Amino acid sequence: MAGMAMAMLASCVGPPPSPTTVIAPPPHAPSHALPSGSFVFRGTISQGAMLIGTAPNGTTVLTLDGEAVPLTSDGRFLIAFGRDHGPSATLIARRSDGSAITDTLAVLPRLWRLEELPIPKGTTPTPEFLAQRSAELAQIKAARVIAVATQSDGWRQAFIWPVTGRISGLFGAQRVYNGEKGSFHSGLDVAVPQGTPVRAPADGVVLLAASGDPFTLEGHLLMVGHGMGLDSAFLHLSHIDVKVGDVVRQGQVIGESGMSGRATGPHLHWALTWRGERIDPLPVAPPMPAPDVPGCASSVAKGRASHPATGSQRLRIDDQFRFCGQFVSEPLPSDQKNLAGGLSTDGSPIFQQVMNDLLQVISGEIFTEI
Ligand SMILES: [Zn+2]
Repeated sequence: MAGMAMAMLASCVGPPPSPTTVIAPPPHAPSHALPSGSFVFRGTISQGAMLIGTAPNGTTVLTLDGEAVPLTSDGRFLIAFGRDHGPSATLIARRSDGSAITDTLAVLPRLWRLEELPIPKGTTPTPEFLAQRSAELAQIKAARVIAVATQSDGWRQAFIWPVTGRISGLFGAQRVYNGEKGSFHSGLDVAVPQGTPVRAPADGVVLLAASGDPFTLEGHLLMVGHGMGLDSAFLHLSHIDVKVGDVVRQGQVIGESGMSGRATGPHLHWALTWRGERIDPLPVAPPMPAPDVPGCASSVAKGRASHPATGSQRLRIDDQFRFCGQFVSEPLPSDQKNLAGGLSTDGSPIFQQVMNDLLQVISGEIFTEI
């Protein structure tokens, strides 16, 4: 419970941070590349995306759909659109001369991966679990409140990957259990071995470091605020190198990956949140480097399996999915065999890892907050 704020030894802190990355040039041409009197944006205006903008000259108050958005002294701001945001958003800049500029943004919809699982939604939690969970959620909620007031320029940087590896779970994937909608996957999973160094994707301040007792679902959870209400959460760590209040620099090792909490295999779950809106880390980070895994792109993402709890019922995992840093989509092979234990496999270790990831997604369903 009082696991956060555990004293950490200075010697645990990783090597000196790499030099701070200067803001990268816009990845996309600004949609409103007009000078001074208009908004300028960097990023794509779509569901699950974050956007860095420059307000028209002289803007003193900025609102997004009626909510105040903080501005830097040079007129920069950060906004984001949740996974299920509607088709438009309204930005209003009020200027010192009394005028106002309104920009109605068209928010592009995205298609989210559907995971139809022929199993019940979950089991009834015990009173002990609920009590522990409520204390954990209170810590997470408090960290998110601090995130809004955290001063850091990390949000302006070009983010880097906290770890590199095979992307095993996409943001936004919607689970459906026997036809009943579950929660969507709120982060991005990267399958990496236990003990892989996790680096700060951008500068920030540590908001929560569950170094003591692992949280029931997130395990050793680390949250870093990047300023402007944007925060990163890293789940299932095996070790945390920093403590609450520490200032971290982009590239600094802040912990090690693992499978603490509810996870059936080692991986890093990285979640980005802006003022309560969940953001997809994939477009925020650069392209994932191609992994050095033989056969990676050809042998994964095909096959079918049955969950141990349901016997013969099968899960499809062949649809378009991001593996090995690229999308692959292959038809189901017809020669899958059911093996003892309920899983069928094509025999490749990568397929087994896919199944581990899938089961982790299934088992992480209830009460996932991060
Ligand atoms: Zn995950």
